Order: sequence, then structure tokens, then C-alpha cells
Amino acid sequence: MASKVTFIGAGNMAGAIIGGMIESGFSPDDITATAPSDDFLAPLRERLGIRTDTDNDAAVAQSDVVVLAVKPQIMREVCEKMRDAVQARRPLIVSVAAGLPAETLEHWLGGNLPLVRCMPNTPALVGAGAAGLFANDKVDEAQRRLATELMESVGLVEWVEDEALLDAVTAVSGSAPAYFFLMFEAMEQAGVKLGLPSDTARRLAMQTALGAAKMALSSDKPPAELKRNVMSPGGTTERAIEHLEDAGLRRIMAEAMTACADRAGEMA
Ligand code: NAD
Repeated sequence: MASKVTFIGAGNMAGAIIGGMIESGFSPDDITATAPSDDFLAPLRERLGIRTDTDNDAAVAQSDVVVLAVKPQIMREVCEKMRDAVQARRPLIVSVAAGLPAETLEHWLGGNLPLVRCMPNTPALVGAGAAGLFANDKVDEAQRRLATELMESVGLVEWVEDEALLDAVTAVSGSAPAYFFLMFEAMEQAGVKLGLPSDTARRLAMQTALGAAKMALSSDKPPAELKRNVMSPGGTTERAIEHLEDAGLRRIMAEAMTACADRAGEMA
């Protein structure tokens, strides 16, 4: 029988994952989302045909997997309230909340639970996410596969075996969409300085990023080689890359990402 999955919280992240799950073949009948008021639930129910409930305990009592998808600030209260229902059922817990360690969540839920902590990123909202996952020692192989399936429905999944590495995942993918948005801003501004209309520069920059990512993902060549392939000696690309290297782009990225990972560590 298919696993029953309940999302505690029916916001952006839950909606994105549920949409992806249904597209990748999960039955809406096996999915429940909860929220304190039906106002949040009605749109999801109508759009996706899933089950909904305003009672977290009742939904948990029917579930093999419980996905924690409320804001981190209210997570403790939500977990402690449903502790008895969770302990009676002992489902796999999957958390997508930023910055809350597995042990803390497990403790709030009464302890001794299989728990997967996930660091997703916002492109999950358009089905192109990249997530790092960590499983505690109570998660079995079937539960790992199930967590992989859930998160793969909205993008790429990579497992880490040490929870502290989720801070590195935060630096490489969790916070990283913003690095590219900054790059788009900078490229648009530079394109305008060179005479292009801003819309034109913006679209060209974004499409080029998408194309470069697609090329790199579908190639067996490392990025360094792909880069060399577009740099003819004495040509235009070589001139630009020399500037970026001389200006210390690699050092700047390393410093920014170290700062990001350090901040993630402080928040956990
Ligand atoms: P959101 O505000 O869109 O959704 C939160 C949902 O929780 C709402 O539907 C709200 O009604 C519901 N809720 C509030 N109290 C509840 C309760 N007592 N019981 C059940 N549901 C309750 O938030 P979001 O952006 O979807 O974020 C959810 C989680 O995902 C957060 O922990 C966040 O850290 C994580 N996350 C989000 C993103 C993102 O791109 N949005 C990225 C990475 C991680």
C-alpha cells in the first residue's frame, strides 16, 4: 500500500512539494495538508485534489510520513502540541525548516523517531530545487528512499552523512539562488551601460545562465573544460574571464560562502 504523507503547514514550500509529488505520480488521496484555518487549505484542496485537515493530531494518526512545513519560529509549539499523536504513530518525520537541528525537532516531538532534515532552496517552488538531506540513525533504507522520492519531485537531492554539512549545503545551494540573482542584477546594469535596453540585457543574462547550467549538467566535462572551450586565445571571453580572475572572484565566492555557512552554524 502507498505511504500516506501529511504536510503540517500548507504554505509555499508544502504547496510546491505536493504539486511536484502529484506530477511525479503520487496519488492526491495519499496526501494530506494541515493548517489552522480552512482559508489556507481550500485553494490547495481545489487545485490539487488532496485531503486537508485543520486538526494536526487527526492527520498524523493516519500518516506514514509527516513533513514539518511551518515557519521555524512556531515549530516548537506545533511539535509539542502534536507530540502524543506522533508518539502513538511513530511516522517518518521530514523537516524542511531552516536552521532547526534534527535532535531538537526529535526532542520537541518526544524523542526516538526516524527523522530526515532537509535544506531545500526556493527554486523548488518552480520544480527546479536543489536540496541537501540528512537522516538520523533511526531512519531505515525504505524511509530514505521515500524521503528522496518526496524531495526529488521538486528537484535534485543530495544526501550528507554528517548533519553539520547542511551548513555547507546552505552555502552551496540553500542561499545560493540569491548569488545568481545578484549576478543577474550586475549583468543587467553592465549591459545597460553598454547600451542595451534593461529588459533585453536581463533576459539575455538569465537565458544564458539557464543555458550554461543545462550544458554543464548534461555534459561529462568539468566546468573548467567547458569554460576553456568558449575561450579562444586573444578573444572576447578570455578578456572577460581574465578580469574576473584578476579581481579575485574565486576568493570572493569562498569568503561569501564561508560567511554563509558560519551563519547557518550559529543559527542551528
Ligand atoms: P508559509 O508561511 O508559506 O507556510 C506556513 C504554513 O503553516 C501556512 O500554511 C500556515 O497556515 C501553516 N501553519 C501555521 N500554524 C500552523 C499550525 N499550528 N499547524 C499547521 N499549520 C500551520 O511558509 P513556507 O515559506 O512554506 O515555509 C515553510 C517552511 O519551509 C519553513 O520552515 C521554512 O524555513 C522552510 N523553507 C522554505 C523555503 C521557501 O522557499 N519558502 C525555502 C527553504 C526552507
